[in-house]
Amino acid sequence: MQLRDKLYINGQWRAPSGKGKIDVICSSTEEVIGCVPEGTVADADAAVQAARDAFEGWAATPVAERAAMLGKIQAGLMSRMQEIAKIIAQEVGMPFKMAMMIQAGLPVASFGYVANALPKYEFEKRIGNSLVVHEPVGVVVAITPWNYPLHQIAGKVAPALAAGCTVVLKPSSQAPLNAFILAEVIEAAGVPKGVFNLVTGRGPQVGERLVAHPEVDMISLTGSTRSGRRIAELASHTIKRVALELGGKSASVILDDADLARAIRGSVSACMLNSGQTCSAHTRMVAPESRYAEIVKRTVEEAEGYTLGDPFAETTKLGPLVSAKQRETVRSYIRKGMAEGAELLCGGPDAPANLPKGWYVKPTVFGRVDPNSTIAQEEIFGPVLSIIPYKSEDDAVRIANNSIYGLAGGVWSGNEARAIKVARRIRTGQVDINGGAFNIEAPFGGYKQSGYGRELGSYGLEEFFEVKSLQLKS
Ligand code: NAP
Repeated sequence: MQLRDKLYINGQWRAPSGKGKIDVICSSTEEVIGCVPEGTVADADAAVQAARDAFEGWAATPVAERAAMLGKIQAGLMSRMQEIAKIIAQEVGMPFKMAMMIQAGLPVASFGYVANALPKYEFEKRIGNSLVVHEPVGVVVAITPWNYPLHQIAGKVAPALAAGCTVVLKPSSQAPLNAFILAEVIEAAGVPKGVFNLVTGRGPQVGERLVAHPEVDMISLTGSTRSGRRIAELASHTIKRVALELGGKSASVILDDADLARAIRGSVSACMLNSGQTCSAHTRMVAPESRYAEIVKRTVEEAEGYTLGDPFAETTKLGPLVSAKQRETVRSYIRKGMAEGAELLCGGPDAPANLPKGWYVKPTVFGRVDPNSTIAQEEIFGPVLSIIPYKSEDDAVRIANNSIYGLAGGVWSGNEARAIKVARRIRTGQVDINGGAFNIEAPFGGYKQSGYGRELGSYGLEEFFEVKSLQLKS
């Protein structure tokens, strides 16, 4: 049991100002595995004040010193990877072995990237008679979701600290325990007091106070489009900089010359990863009518190979969903898909008979999905794949772009140049060509209602700078 009863503010573990607690529940056993403080507006204010007070000193800290501390954070996280993966496998439900690689491995990589890149970063350049300097944006509030909790935290905290910003982190109330490990690691790395602060609590209370606070310069949110809209509205009153990483409804476009064995394996995996609880999940498979029957057969076989079960069992490929509420949302989308006339090819809304505990949903595939129907348009955030047939390449691109979202996608073809040509026409921030791997140094972010701003690599670092021009006489 992880009982956390203090917040990390101004370099100290402090009792919260209120008495509220938030229980953390294991998604596979439905048991309480820990609790964290339900922070208050007063806690949010104290954390912002600490970050404001620490800003000038941290911004002036030599780059080499900041980089050395980020390197220590990387090493600290690396030494606790097992613990991180275990907690997140419980909080979120991702199979443990995968959680080691993704949920624990990516945050290590993010801190490692900034520790190495920072000393090489060009902070100043001459343009004619001007000296252009990069300065940290100021006090940053990071608000993060539950699905890849520490990866999303690291995607903000690592570059913000590297740039010289100070940070207040408000993690998801659903999966907050991992953030406490990061705070301990940051403390042990010797980061000065107030540079990093952790306040847990509910989005509509603590989150909104942080967003509206006049001493905060920037908000970086990863979350739902609904929260993004609310946060952008609130932040507009003080003209804060806002970066939003929001939802998605990404398409995997299979061209008629694709290697179907690879395309189907890759597309189903890009949909089912983390039980479909991935913002960039490829939840729409856009399939050529000429090869539709073969695609359906292979997709069903592949999806049915995703063995549901305990995240700590060796055989498990698909864990439970994060909460009872999320499971209900996903089941109601499956029912809606059936009601709207899509063909249910496998899975379905009923609970798997062999798993009486845990918020499991069977891997579900729909065929002949109308591209304008609810399940083809709305983010489901569960293991549900919609196959949408198309007749021509133009038609495939039109279907892929028929979404309010624009986060990610994939194109599969026997001819890479053809795939790239199609990928250029897709209005999203990322497109994987023939299953090209996720790159922690490439920019990640959305077009349209998937948000604005970019995370990861040098583009992610640049989000946290202001740019100043000094006009020189000489
Ligand atoms: P969420 O409900 O929007 O919550 C995200 C964070 O925002 C949480 O910390 C939440 O606090 C906080 N929050 C909620 N309402 C708020 C408000 N009014 N003011 C300030 N903060 C507020 O999203 P989620 O359910 O955790 O995560 C799933 C969503 O995130 C999906 O839509 C997914 O697509 C998106 N996502 C996007 C990306 C990306 O990079 N584009 C990556 C991962 C996930 P509480 O936890 O206390 O409610």
